[in-house]
Amino acid sequence: MLISGAGIAGLTLAYWLRRRGFEPVVVERAPHGRLGGYGVDFFGSGYDVAARMGILDRLTPHRLPVDAVEFVDASGRSSARLPAELLERVIRGPHLPLMHTTLEGALLDAVDGEVEIRFADSVADVRDTGGAVEVAFAGGGRERFDLLVGADGIHSRTRELVFGPESRFVHPLGTRLASYPVPDRYGWGRVRAHYTEPGRQTVLYPSGEPGTLVALLLFRAPRGGGVPREQRAGLLRERFAGAGWLTPALLADAPAGDSIFMDEMAQVMMPVWHRGRVALIGDACGCMTMVSAQGVSMAMAGAYALAEALAEEPGHERAFARYEARMRPEVRRRQRNALLFARMLLPSGRAGLAVQGLANRIITRQAFAPVLRRQFGAGSVLPPATTRGR
Ligand SMILES: Cc1cc2nc3c(=O)[nH]c(=O)nc-3n(C[C@H](O)[C@H](O)[C@H](O)COP(=O)(O)OP(=O)(O)OC[C@H]3O[C@@H](n4cnc5c(N)ncnc54)[C@H](O)[C@@H]3O)c2cc1C
Repeated sequence: MLISGAGIAGLTLAYWLRRRGFEPVVVERAPHGRLGGYGVDFFGSGYDVAARMGILDRLTPHRLPVDAVEFVDASGRSSARLPAELLERVIRGPHLPLMHTTLEGALLDAVDGEVEIRFADSVADVRDTGGAVEVAFAGGGRERFDLLVGADGIHSRTRELVFGPESRFVHPLGTRLASYPVPDRYGWGRVRAHYTEPGRQTVLYPSGEPGTLVALLLFRAPRGGGVPREQRAGLLRERFAGAGWLTPALLADAPAGDSIFMDEMAQVMMPVWHRGRVALIGDACGCMTMVSAQGVSMAMAGAYALAEALAEEPGHERAFARYEARMRPEVRRRQRNALLFARMLLPSGRAGLAVQGLANRIITRQAFAPVLRRQFGAGSVLPPATTRGR
């Protein structure tokens, strides 16, 4: 079986397939080990899968030093504060903020020596012959596999080759986000701070590496499409011209070259997640956007569910259908919730901003934990562990 993409979903799938006696091969477009990146709130289903993989010991020492989320004004004064304890009450379980790359690194270690991973290559063409999948690689060569799983993220090449063009399935939400590391010139504390102006937001939090913070900038961008790496810093300076709080300093510290992560905020919606001998997992079929804070969880839970189905069902058609029936309603529910959050994220005027400020003050009160929990839908979707599955 070939897995396209050694990200969160692909590596988790490779691990559980190996545990179930399969011999997956993974092809990853990036060269070995990705750098930098952004932080993720890790909890719920993803946390439970990581526990079953026995990798929590590897992750917890890298917990980002964030004790609270704060909403700040232009002078940096906090107007509302969500402490970590309240967040854990909302999600009813442990919350582990991590760099995305830390999680990927732990997953890579978990399959090290067990699974063949071909870095710096990718799937160039796919032909499902009915009895097998013939794959042509960008680096040259053709091979036959019994199955192909596309775990290649929101801009999945597997999806494009097998299901159709990205424009049919990827629905942009009119917001672009950028993330990059900056030097800590501020003696920054254990906080993730959000500063919002009409149509744009600046976020700052510790990276876990002493002396380095992560800047996250979000802005309205109705027109979609990718931005070439060399134009990203310039675009940010243009869109955040005149912005308050620490924004000018964070823009001045934006790295040149290719170190700025930038993408559109979008959801992926597809009528079906599998066709013939090919299936999709993670963001490739069910991206919910970063505001759901559950992309990693659903990617890991989906990978776990697919490996379980492939091991227990008599054929791949039944396995793919069982996996999709299990995961699709969970993903869809989170997509609906995320859409509500995404719409409120960047108010277009001062009045909307005032409403957002009020909402922030209300939802960060203890009494609202059950409301947030219902809205968030953060519970684990994992079936109870069986002795065979673990
Ligand atoms: C700024 C930001 C903040 C976020 N915050 C959170 C959060 O707090 N909590 C949370 O749970 N989620 C969060 N997410 C979402 C989360 O990161 C994703 O949902 C998750 O990484 C999806 O995992 P994946 O494996 O499907 O895709 P990815 O992690 O994107 O992995 C895809 C992999 O496929 C590789 N690839 C791509 N194309 C090809 C190709 N053609 N051939 C071979 N390989 C290819 C890529 O290099 C990559 O390694 C956030 C996302 C962003 C952008």
